[in-house]
Amino acid sequence: MTLTLEPKQEQPTCNYCGKQLHGRVGKKYYNVDCKNNFNSRIRSELRSKENEFFPKAFNQIKVNYRILHTYREKLEVGNGLYMEMKELVKFGFDPDFCTNAYLSLIHI
Ligand SMILES: [Zn+2]
Repeated sequence: MTLTLEPKQEQPTCNYCGKQLHGRVGKKYYNVDCKNNFNSRIRSELRSKENEFFPKAFNQIKVNYRILHTYREKLEVGNGLYMEMKELVKFGFDPDFCTNAYLSLIHI
């Protein structure tokens, strides 16, 4: 009688944290948090790579949009949005990359 020793199969590990996995075959993550964190990290890396190809103008337009969106409630007065440009610039707003605006002239 001969004994053949099969190589011991390596215990699978979590794709996110590297902990050893137990349970069903084909399991990839230790728990649902690891799965969510892994997928979140992948999405974040893809977004980061995608942003590298955007011209700076697109990024500034996104920054401008975020600023206006964030302060929208604060800006909204009557039928329009009002804030002095110097205030917006303090938050990082760049008026050279504003895609649309209604300008109201104040006569003194
Ligand atoms: Zn994990």
